[in-house]
Amino acid sequence: MVKETLGFQAEVKQLLELMIHSLYSNKEIFLRELVSNASDAADKLRFEALNHNSLYESDPELKIRVSFDKAARSVTVSDNGIGMSRDEVIRNIGTIAKSGTREFFQSLTGDQAKDARLIGQFGVGFYSSFIVADRVTLVTRRAGLPAGDAVRWECDMAKGAGEYSIEPAEKATRGTEVTLHLREGEDELLDEFRLKAILRKYSDHIAIPIVMDGEAVNQASALWVRPKNEISDEQYVEFYKHVGHDFEPPLAWTHNRVEGRQEYTQLLYIPAHAPFDLWDREHRHGLKLYVRRVFIMDDAAQLLPAYLRFVRGVVDSSDLPLNVSREILQQSRDIDALRAGCTKRVLDLLDDLAANHKDKYATFWNEFGRVLKEGVGEDASNRERIARLLRFSSTHDDREAETVSLADYVSRMRPGQDKIYYVTAESFLAAKGSPHLEIFRKRAIEVLLLHDRVDEWLVANLPEYEGKALVSVARGRLDLGNIGGEEANEGGHKVGEHAELLRKLKAALGDKVKDVRISDRLTHSPSCLVADEHDMGGNLARILKAAGQKVPLSKPILEVNAAHAIVQRLKPEDERFDDWASVLFDQALLAEGGQLDDPAGFVKRTNELMLGPARS
Ligand code: ADP
Ligand code: MG
Repeated sequence: MVKETLGFQAEVKQLLELMIHSLYSNKEIFLRELVSNASDAADKLRFEALNHNSLYESDPELKIRVSFDKAARSVTVSDNGIGMSRDEVIRNIGTIAKSGTREFFQSLTGDQAKDARLIGQFGVGFYSSFIVADRVTLVTRRAGLPAGDAVRWECDMAKGAGEYSIEPAEKATRGTEVTLHLREGEDELLDEFRLKAILRKYSDHIAIPIVMDGEAVNQASALWVRPKNEISDEQYVEFYKHVGHDFEPPLAWTHNRVEGRQEYTQLLYIPAHAPFDLWDREHRHGLKLYVRRVFIMDDAAQLLPAYLRFVRGVVDSSDLPLNVSREILQQSRDIDALRAGCTKRVLDLLDDLAANHKDKYATFWNEFGRVLKEGVGEDASNRERIARLLRFSSTHDDREAETVSLADYVSRMRPGQDKIYYVTAESFLAAKGSPHLEIFRKRAIEVLLLHDRVDEWLVANLPEYEGKALVSVARGRLDLGNIGGEEANEGGHKVGEHAELLRKLKAALGDKVKDVRISDRLTHSPSCLVADEHDMGGNLARILKAAGQKVPLSKPILEVNAAHAIVQRLKPEDERFDDWASVLFDQALLAEGGQLDDPAGFVKRTNELMLGPARS
């Protein structure tokens, strides 16, 4: 094969341009990224060599070398790790395989400071070389391939940023060597002290030696096995950036050595921001699994339940066999115990943040609250603990930010109140403005405003909290008794008085409604819809329908406000009675965020009713 010139994926081109400009103020991180990749490559070699010892060739000591050449104005990082084949180079270096790439590019603003943050979140890894270099050469040979099967890859910005060349090469030793030909003005990097200082600052946690001039610059022991009191916060943070492929510091971490029937070490981090692919179920990330210091796999999804999939870090087991595979992980009982242990530690950490670091907990909730909510249904054994960690919007302050815990709610319950009330809707505004809240607002009874799709699922799985039932304000009969200090039956209505009106409304609406009755919920609106005690609520039905699912047909109950002027004026013998009935129904549906079957009909009827009987 001869030298070929290939084009970068369009996103890579764009990323290169942006990165050079927006990460320029933090340019030394390129070294951390290259060393991080070299360390990953060493881990992968050690793992593959478990079954193929010959991969070590005659060079069993894994290490990373960093050197520079003043005359050539270049810095080189080389490793004797797994290396890459030609196909792997094209796939790993020429494209961004991350899911969510397109969404990421759409989210860029053009504002450098903001975009720098975003780019950091996206993780730029290898491409950060181009912050300090305008030409990057990579020569690599995959372990196990003959010396003549190496590959030379080069990208020269001067020749056009959109292209790279790839050609066959000779390489006596396995692994990867990356050479950065520095940009004008970057000569300060051609200095031993400068490079060593950068390595110590960002890469001390790397478990294999990083060698300059024959001497190791770092401690070269796995960070997680060092005693806690010998690890600085900076080291924890830099290690997180390496395992989490993240540019930003984590929010919090927990580091434990567990002894007993099972022995393992866990170092688990909660990131400060959600990754772009948090909702991508196919590419689920997870923890790195090591067995007695040997890297086994990335993204071991079995080590944590799905609702904690945002956690990053390392688990190092002393008990699992070295040949453990994903298949074995799926069935192993040891893994169940490991997962329970990791889950407990993460929940402990969240408890601690919620109790002692409220700002951090607020950040956590903003980024990952929606994921944690899944745990209520998914992890019955920790349901109570998770319920304590939940935060909601509520009528207490009518703010969209979710800050109210169930404990806060319970502490504010009115005398005689024994239920936790909530309303669910498509959006915060729809929830906040829901007519179902009117009587609750009047009596100063707090209601949780649930406006997240997953909330429907949450309440379906959380029938009660500390003995108090969670109850929808839009379902069944409402019996507030005299909570809030007033007599029941606000409207003081007698059903008999309205029997004829209700009967006629029901007849006019036909099979749109299950029943029509006088409401105890409304103080301002003329009507609302409620679900019968055991029927599915309107919001959930709409969510399921939108997701293309079959929804059991359950009709709503129309409740009318007997004290409302429209209802009081409405007489069974009215000429336009059917139109009034329709409008009362449609308004109720609109007010709770529903869609009308016949919007044009609604508009026509309201217009005619507004014009009044004289003109009709
Ligand atoms: P990330 O490390 O987050 O995957 P990078 O941009 O840093 O992203 O690297 C992209 C990919 O290129 C890596 O996942 C790896 O497959 C490959 N790669 C980079 N550097 C090396 C190396 N020194 N040895 C082997 N593979 C490498
Ligand atoms: Mg990397």
